[in-house]
Amino acid sequence: MPGDNGKSAEEDVVIIGAGAAGIAAARRLQEIRPDLSILMLEAGDRLGGRAWTVGLPEAGDTGLDLGCGWLHGARTNAWTAIAGEVGLTVDRTPAPWNGGRQLERDDADVDAAQDAIGAYFERLDSHEGDDTDLAAMLEPGNAWNGQIRAIGTYITGAELERSSVADYNKYDPGPGPDWRVRQGYGKLVSLYGRPVPARLGTQVRRIDHRPAGRIGIETNRGLLSARAVLVTVSTNVLAAGRITFDPPLPDKIEAAARLPLGLADKLFLGLVHPQALPADTHMLGSFSRGATGTYQLRPLGAPVVEAYFAGDLAHDLEREGGEAAFSFAADELAAQFGADIRRELSVAAISAWAATPHIGGSYSYAEPGASDLRGVLAAPHDERIFFAGEACSHSRYSTAHGAYETGLAAADLIAGSLSQNP
Ligand SMILES: Cc1cc2nc3c(=O)[nH]c(=O)nc-3n(C[C@H](O)[C@H](O)[C@H](O)COP(=O)(O)OP(=O)(O)OC[C@H]3O[C@@H](n4cnc5c(N)ncnc54)[C@H](O)[C@@H]3O)c2cc1C
Repeated sequence: MPGDNGKSAEEDVVIIGAGAAGIAAARRLQEIRPDLSILMLEAGDRLGGRAWTVGLPEAGDTGLDLGCGWLHGARTNAWTAIAGEVGLTVDRTPAPWNGGRQLERDDADVDAAQDAIGAYFERLDSHEGDDTDLAAMLEPGNAWNGQIRAIGTYITGAELERSSVADYNKYDPGPGPDWRVRQGYGKLVSLYGRPVPARLGTQVRRIDHRPAGRIGIETNRGLLSARAVLVTVSTNVLAAGRITFDPPLPDKIEAAARLPLGLADKLFLGLVHPQALPADTHMLGSFSRGATGTYQLRPLGAPVVEAYFAGDLAHDLEREGGEAAFSFAADELAAQFGADIRRELSVAAISAWAATPHIGGSYSYAEPGASDLRGVLAAPHDERIFFAGEACSHSRYSTAHGAYETGLAAADLIAGSLSQNP
């Protein structure tokens, strides 16, 4: 254990955080610089961070992802190829927003809603001039603003008033549709991290970079030192000052604070009789309310409903607890399928990402005017302290493959810096 005997363990590179970014960086360094000693420190008790799959006996080998689930930009997403390498199955059933199966609704207004949503996103795309917030692009009084608001929260995890149009317009997950990993995206990320030396339950508290040589790393389990440190913790963890930098790095903390995590939570509802609902079909809870869930019925055929809540609704349901989330989802499903559906449902798994220690939310959004701070966050400090994580990506922020790419980029910079200063 580092520091158990008062001596500090010495590494070449210490990576803080074993999420998609930290794991990607570690694997890259192992490949290009096998001579370096690398250690990943993870405050939680598992690899993966916001990539987290749980199992359900009734679901067989289908994993339930409480965090990332979709391989966005799947054709060029690095995780798609890695899934094959580690023996997992990529399922190519189309996503609901890419032609996947939607619940048939008699609603004569569906087309009108689609037109209003399309027009809203066109206004976003064509916005020029000063950055503003996503709510400013709503058409006042439009009957479908509630639905547009709901979709906005699924995308950013925040209410439209809080997030930047310029940042939204930079988002580009890459070509290709969105696919899923049958056994779970979280399982994929954690499997890929297995060959990396890691210490779980090890929370970094302070980074002492006053000395010119090795950097001191203070943890709840003792002291370590390293020639280079890679920080991959979430922006909410950084902004809350959970890691003290000595001397302080105010630019990083300010950037993190203006790139906060939005909130999205998932609730998996077990079904007594799977055939009670159609397989792999999408349903929106309400077409008029902003505070509504989005539901994937029997994803990949599993006997569950995957409910997704975001923005203020997700905060409210987290605060109120699992029963509140259950009854909210049961009410929305009963409004569509009739009251008997309630008897089919029970809670199988639920996330509470805002309350999850060492993470504190779901994915980053930029406040209006703050999009460029992603570059400030990503910039190395003094060629010794490096930063990665989804929030550091200019165009693939909020995704697990964006996190992967920032990890790769940081690993290359670290390798370059350590060869110049052997
Ligand atoms: C509900 C939900 C749905 C999502 N859906 C998708 C999706 O469909 N597709 C997609 O691509 N992405 C999705 N995402 C986003 C994706 O999961 C994240 O962008 C990505 O996993 C972030 O990886 P990361 O390495 O940047 O950060 P993290 O996964 O947060 O990793 C950082 C790690 O640092 C650890 N840590 C924090 N503080 C300390 C400390 N002091 N000392 C040591 N360790 C510390 C944390 O425990 C954590 O494990 C979703 C996320 C959520 C929550």
